[in-house]
Amino acid sequence: MSRTTARPASKRGAPPRRVPAPPRGAKARALATVEALGREYPTAEIALKFASPLQLLVATILSAQTTDERVNMVTPQLFERYPDADSLAAAPLPELEKIIQSTGFFRSKSRAISEMAQDIVSRYDGEVPPRMEDLVTLRGVGRKTANVVLGVAFGVPGFAVDTHVIRLSKRLGLTRSDDPVIIEAQVCAMAPKEEWTELSLRLILHGRRVCLARIPRCEVCVLNSFCPSAFVAGGRRSRKARPRGAGPAGRATRAERQA
Ligand code: SF4
Repeated sequence: MSRTTARPASKRGAPPRRVPAPPRGAKARALATVEALGREYPTAEIALKFASPLQLLVATILSAQTTDERVNMVTPQLFERYPDADSLAAAPLPELEKIIQSTGFFRSKSRAISEMAQDIVSRYDGEVPPRMEDLVTLRGVGRKTANVVLGVAFGVPGFAVDTHVIRLSKRLGLTRSDDPVIIEAQVCAMAPKEEWTELSLRLILHGRRVCLARIPRCEVCVLNSFCPSAFVAGGRRSRKARPRGAGPAGRATRAERQA
């Protein structure tokens, strides 16, 4: 019989999901992760360039399926041409598409940015609302984007769950779930609230630099003394590389091995 810990907030009136208890020992690993990554990346910052909550919202929407560097190449022109929600809401879609084309999925991203700006103008007087329950009502804005904007632009703790955070949370034994909403609820129940924003940014950084999807670099990882997946790569454990004192290895998921 599964225990439950908390119920995550629902999006747009969807019924709240039951949140299963995290794996045994997860809280200790979560706190150790906060400590170790805090030492490793003392100044974790988002790589997207922005000057306002609206710009961060737009940049985060653009960052789907591309790199932050690519986004930073198109946003100066975009923000200069359309500096506020009113001008973005009125922007012709073909012009938006032309500017953001190199970020990929430019038609759906242009539509999302346009509709999001229209919602901000019509319902929030042109200002990005600083609350999760309002942000997720904007078209094109999900919990991940909302948490980024809350945490980075408004200073309201938010744990954004992207593909790196999902992978690391599973490898570190903080969750067994693939569901971002459940992972957010589980990790937020274990980590101090004031750490949520930076923990997410640090996990993303660590996922890009060390805990790579295909072959994690466990030998240089500051989490390898307590990570249950340490020295498991491609589903095979490298006993030779495993240092003394490291905890028992877990298994990489099929999705991770194929990533
Ligand atoms: S020890 Fe390996 S699997 Fe665990 S977090 Fe570090 S790089 Fe990832």
